[in-house]
Amino acid sequence: MSDIIAAARGFFRGAKGIADAYLMVLRHLFRKQLTEPYPEFKRELPERTRARIVLTRTPDGDERCVACYLCSGACPVNCISMQSEEREDGRRHAAWFRINFARCIYCGLCEEACPTLAIQLTPDFAFAKDDIMKFVYEKEDLLIEGGGKHPDYDFYKHCGVAFGKAGKGERPGERPPVDVKNNLP
Ligand code: SF4
Ligand code: SF4
Repeated sequence: MSDIIAAARGFFRGAKGIADAYLMVLRHLFRKQLTEPYPEFKRELPERTRARIVLTRTPDGDERCVACYLCSGACPVNCISMQSEEREDGRRHAAWFRINFARCIYCGLCEEACPTLAIQLTPDFAFAKDDIMKFVYEKEDLLIEGGGKHPDYDFYKHCGVAFGKAGKGERPGERPPVDVKNNLP
């Protein structure tokens, strides 16, 4: 007799478990969906998100990068390389500029180090490749049309320029500007 009671209890426990599972499925069927299907749905990431790196331009459309090597010096994994060159108008720029994204850890130190706001990390993280060599980006792959996060900034209009009526080196206590071309030992 006790065996029959134990079997009946087991049967009802199992049936209750199955019924509970079906009820839970039914309840979730009519709930608001929480999962966001990717890539159909793309969440807008904050501007400060650190992903793909770009080289930006001044408001005049000129290259911001002056090939000062500060970003490559700051990079902890040495994935930035370049060659500096002087243009005919005396301004420096990078003859070539290369980032190996297969090594980049997206720390943002290059962006912090850059005095001209040329190099910037963007929220674009979707650039997976099937070949590791495709992660080596050249200057033409990195250079974008606009100014990125700082569209109005132009290094040459903020730094090293005279202000007010007095010229450079003409204010009290100022030394005359150094001619860097003749600043050799
Ligand atoms: S984000 Fe970091 S690791 Fe990547 S290039 Fe810049 S400094 Fe190097
Ligand atoms: S990106 Fe900025 S820090 Fe790097 S070389 Fe150009 S100007 Fe210098």
